[in-house]
Amino acid sequence: MALKFFNTLSRSLQEFTPLDPAGKNAGMYCCGPTVYDLAHIGNFRTFVFSDLVRRYLEFRGFQVTHVMNVTDVEDKIIRNVRTAQIPLREFTGKFEQAFFDDLRTLNCRPPHQTPHATEFIAEMIALIEKLMERGVAYRTPDGSVYFSIDKYRALGGRYGQLVTLNFDNLRVGERVRNDEYEKESVADFALWKGRVPEDGAVFWPSPWGEGRPGWHIECSAMSMKLLGTSFDLHLGGEDLAFPHHEDEIAQSEGCGIHGPGQRFVKYWLHAAHLLVEGKKMSKSLGNFFTLRDLIAKGYTGREVRYLLLTAHYRESFNFTMDGLSAARTALARIDECLGKLTELAGSQAAAPAPELVAKFTEALDDDLNVAGAWGVVFEWVRQCNKALAEQSLTPAAAAAALAAWKRLDEVLGVSPVAAAEEVPAAMLALLEARQAARKAKDFKRADAIRDEMKAAGWVIEDTPKGPKLKKVS
Ligand SMILES: [Zn+2]
Repeated sequence: MALKFFNTLSRSLQEFTPLDPAGKNAGMYCCGPTVYDLAHIGNFRTFVFSDLVRRYLEFRGFQVTHVMNVTDVEDKIIRNVRTAQIPLREFTGKFEQAFFDDLRTLNCRPPHQTPHATEFIAEMIALIEKLMERGVAYRTPDGSVYFSIDKYRALGGRYGQLVTLNFDNLRVGERVRNDEYEKESVADFALWKGRVPEDGAVFWPSPWGEGRPGWHIECSAMSMKLLGTSFDLHLGGEDLAFPHHEDEIAQSEGCGIHGPGQRFVKYWLHAAHLLVEGKKMSKSLGNFFTLRDLIAKGYTGREVRYLLLTAHYRESFNFTMDGLSAARTALARIDECLGKLTELAGSQAAAPAPELVAKFTEALDDDLNVAGAWGVVFEWVRQCNKALAEQSLTPAAAAAALAAWKRLDEVLGVSPVAAAEEVPAAMLALLEARQAARKAKDFKRADAIRDEMKAAGWVIEDTPKGPKLKKVS
């Protein structure tokens, strides 16, 4: 079966075939965080979803280039920098650090590139200049530049590809300066915002005077610079489809750099929103959670990741504390089974059991049907437990089952990674003894200890920061 995704662009399920003629490389852009606050659990639903897409493409043998931007200049940031009265970089830096720490807690693979908007101002200006040359952008007396929806449509551009828009109320030249606006506002949007006193020290020079870029142009400039003018996948939360992604398409395709039939992005994937305890998250309702809030309640990143991965990405998901408790129970069931299998397999090694991997693949090929995939996992756990209880499983079969799980977990990422890497106390004691022997210049003893550790499956790597232990698999 072929891998299929629901493409918002065509509103249909489509087989995934990358633009790369060799069918190997896949470029993927995901709108990253706007670093003005800690990201909340709703934001992380989108990032865990992106991680699932990335991991699954890799599992299916694609060579993925994953780009996620960091929006470090935007309306909300400017507002908060003004309140905090500290330099932009200092303000955004701490939220950016927290965001990447949270991604690690959720065991998301780090994107290959994480461009900052403020480092691509030249590319944004170049893109706006192209739009000016084509007559689809215009300068206003305050030194701002706007995208003309009317001119874009006159040139054959289609505005309203990801969402259905009503053009009956379109008043030509009507403008919206804010980065975020309602679907009803089909109006010219800001590409460059002329400097106003409220911007404080946040501005750059441009051919149109001092100012700062609009949010939408940031993603067009960074994605095309790093992935090429046409790339495979663009991901984000469904709330970004309009205006942000619609504007990205208009800006990118409106600057006339695409050949006939060429598109800015081939597949647009959007993750639905998240409710908490059945309601839209809000601070006043007390159901607003950052990842740190959940960790402080005693939950782990692994449990949160698992829970976020139980819902199909296109369905709105009700995140609850009961759900987190259930996640803990479900993971414990998997862990217990894996523990028994590990014990039985002993030092046996085997190729992954093909049937489990095949069923799992079949489920996820269908637009990332995670419910189906988890169904496969738990049916497998049930059967393993049964066979273990009946003592009908051979060590070789246990090893094959474990190897298959390892394949699955490359996608799911829910194994307790940190715990598996933990160094046993006995090895730490041996390491200490070896260090002592070396200090005493008893190299014969030091080498003997090293050999003993190696036999137990641990190698010592001497680094400038001291010796490190690594498990050999
Ligand atoms: Zn974006």
